[in-house]
Amino acid sequence: MSSGSAGRALVLFSGGQDSTTCLAHALTHYDSVETVGFDYGQRHAIELTQRTIVREKIARMFPTWGARLGEDHLINIPALGALSQTALTRDVEIAMGENGLPNTFVPGRNLLFLTLAGALAYRRGANRIVAGMCETDFSGYPDCRDDAVKAMQLALNLGMDARFCVETPLMWLDKAATWRLAEALGGAALASIIVEDTHTCYRGERGKRHDWGYGCGECPACDLRARGFREYAGEI
Ligand code: ZN
Repeated sequence: MSSGSAGRALVLFSGGQDSTTCLAHALTHYDSVETVGFDYGQRHAIELTQRTIVREKIARMFPTWGARLGEDHLINIPALGALSQTALTRDVEIAMGENGLPNTFVPGRNLLFLTLAGALAYRRGANRIVAGMCETDFSGYPDCRDDAVKAMQLALNLGMDARFCVETPLMWLDKAATWRLAEALGGAALASIIVEDTHTCYRGERGKRHDWGYGCGECPACDLRARGFREYAGEI
């Protein structure tokens, strides 16, 4: 674990595997780290409960990180759920759309998240915004692409007269590499928190425990997580 730098970071933290790994990355590299989450009426609102649990466990099991972990912020965006009407916010079957995108795609979601995170980071004096977008396993979501994130960084810096760096440590990693990064950052203890407490399943199910964690085991998010874990574990 490095000693951290004087930077202040704000992490987009949903309580999932990716954003928990991003949180560990920020806690390794920066002295002061806050988190922000978004409630937009997602079906998997369980992740909002899990994020508190994950934060508390990380602070307890990693005292150095606990000392750096600051406030948590939860921003309500009911308008996003109302506008998007997707399978993430309505009780409809998750499927591929005619446009080649899954119907879990919430148009502009990550653009809005980064804008709101920028406004919050501005107020909190954080110059690093850390987010888990990933182009490698991006499920076809265009706002997870590196170009979209870099365009947002530029827009935030121009529009707020700021000098934010939007860091995406997972951008070029696949899910197996994300597991390996978590282990490199926080060893078996962090990997265990990710398995037990982070939430990924789009359907919000936590009934069944698989070797990769809890979830329905069938939705695209579970599928990606399970495949990545099996590869990480050397099973495939
Ligand atoms: Zn699932």
